[in-house]
Amino acid sequence: MMPIEKLLQRLEKVKSTGPGKYQACCPAHDDRTPSLSIKELDDGKLLLNCHAGCGTADIVGAVSLTLADLFPKIHGRDYDATQPRKKPAWRMADVFNTLMRESFILGLALERLLHGNDLSPDDKIRALEACGRIERIHTEVRRYG
Ligand SMILES: [Zn+2]
Repeated sequence: MMPIEKLLQRLEKVKSTGPGKYQACCPAHDDRTPSLSIKELDDGKLLLNCHAGCGTADIVGAVSLTLADLFPKIHGRDYDATQPRKKPAWRMADVFNTLMRESFILGLALERLLHGNDLSPDDKIRALEACGRIERIHTEVRRYG
């Protein structure tokens, strides 16, 4: 569940005031007219502002949430805004090595075929595997631009 859903279902007199913006009664003080502004950022993180001056920790505490609930969970772990964006799990050198090795295998297979030789079942499987690996590298590299 996104932080915004978790929070809004616990608040009263919730009203949308624009894209990603909501107003509700502040649970941390005796609030009759909604004086709590909620803003959902692009990454799903929430910003709270009570016009009466309640602190964010008091506001979430009043509805049995914690500050961590204002951050979306990524891969089941708590999102930490201070961490730099995760680096890809591979190194460029490994990518090139794999590409070289797999192209070499494909080259050998092609050479056999060009000379009129058939590929053994194992060689066929290995050649198809090489294609699969190259394709996966392509997908993986594209993901990180
Ligand atoms: Zn308040």
